[in-house]
Amino acid sequence: MKYLSSLAFARSLDRKDPLRKFRQQFLIPKFNGKPSIYLCGNSLGLEPRSARKYLLEELKDWADLGVEGHVHGRRPWLYYHHLTKKPLAQLLGAKPSEVVAMNQLTVNLHLMMTTFYRPTPQRFKILTEAGAFSSDQYAVESQIRLHGLDPASTLIEISTRPGEHTLHTEDIVTAIRDHGPQLALVLFGGVQYYSGQFFDLKSITAAGHAVGAFVGFDLAHAAGNVPLNLHKDGVDFAVWCSYKYLNSGPGSIAGAFVHERHASGQLPRMAGWWGHHEKDRFKMRKGFIPMPGVDGWQLSNFPVLSGAAHLASLEIFQAAGVRALRRKSVQLTGYLEYLLNDIDADHRYYTLITPRNPDERGCQISILMNHRNGHGVFKKITRLGVIADWREPDVIRVAPVPLYNSFEDVFRFVDLFSKSL
Ligand SMILES: *Cc1c(COP(=O)(O)O)cnc(C)c1O
Repeated sequence: MKYLSSLAFARSLDRKDPLRKFRQQFLIPKFNGKPSIYLCGNSLGLEPRSARKYLLEELKDWADLGVEGHVHGRRPWLYYHHLTKKPLAQLLGAKPSEVVAMNQLTVNLHLMMTTFYRPTPQRFKILTEAGAFSSDQYAVESQIRLHGLDPASTLIEISTRPGEHTLHTEDIVTAIRDHGPQLALVLFGGVQYYSGQFFDLKSITAAGHAVGAFVGFDLAHAAGNVPLNLHKDGVDFAVWCSYKYLNSGPGSIAGAFVHERHASGQLPRMAGWWGHHEKDRFKMRKGFIPMPGVDGWQLSNFPVLSGAAHLASLEIFQAAGVRALRRKSVQLTGYLEYLLNDIDADHRYYTLITPRNPDERGCQISILMNHRNGHGVFKKITRLGVIADWREPDVIRVAPVPLYNSFEDVFRFVDLFSKSL
């Protein structure tokens, strides 16, 4: 598509946007009485108007029914998580039996590693991306130590080539082959939180399996942002959170995927009563019999209040459709990239470190500020009503989200940004 740098052009794209009505379904924070330019859905997605209704319905059932809400509520609490399966399966490219909403992201990462990281003297290494999100680093290192091993000799971190900001799939695959028989687990992000790079899940998974390792992904920045095919790609496990692109509210319930080939219930795990077979969960007998599929990794009963906001949001994704969202996302981010390149063609002020190929990114563009006043620029745009985010040491991340951001948002942002340089 040919883009133009004008407000009129941005508005013409908005008029033609088949998803434009979804913006009205979200509450956009105000700045001086007008909607702010919110480009931070990669950090905390906006509140769907329907979230309040869904929450109030559960509060009402609690008030009216007390404990009987578990069975007689309008959405019986005992089975509430079933309602999230179909929409989650669509978003993740999985079967409903392969996905479950549960716990928090880092908790789920630990649960999955307990199952899929079982080091032996021959096969004990974990391969991951250098500069992974802090929580993932802490989780992985602590898991390694729990097994009595030393992260320095156990954890392989793949770095970018000198002077580059993103990884080459071929470098990842080569490293996997190099460590081959010693590799127990390949654990990667789906979309890198800092650079915005969308990794090639299929190739990474195939390379890991070829050397006999398990392969898992942290999809915190991928779920609800990029098309995923976890089942077809053969990924062993994945985890994600729901408060970023999935718009389910601060600290809301996270999710996990385990591939159907591990469904039988043979794999060791941490167990709890909600993972026990549903048909006799309440017999409270000795002897854990796991639910088949990922449901067998559940520990606790479902947190209905955060789950209600999650369900409200997932239904919006279903209404919009994964394909239509991706189509708009590619256009919207393409427009952002075009405008940013237009105002600083020779990269005097900044460098865009996110891959240029739309297949290798989601909606986020990471702007590496070339001068020391990068943080000053960030503060200026914030004072002008832009909500974006700053990542140490020198990156401004902006993420136009196809569900609620407009081409006009993108145009206005770049206009204010260029005036702040
Ligand atoms: C946001 C994010 C987290 C946050 O973890 P929580 O357990 O949800 O607090 C962890 N890892 C990655 C990659 C993230 O993007």
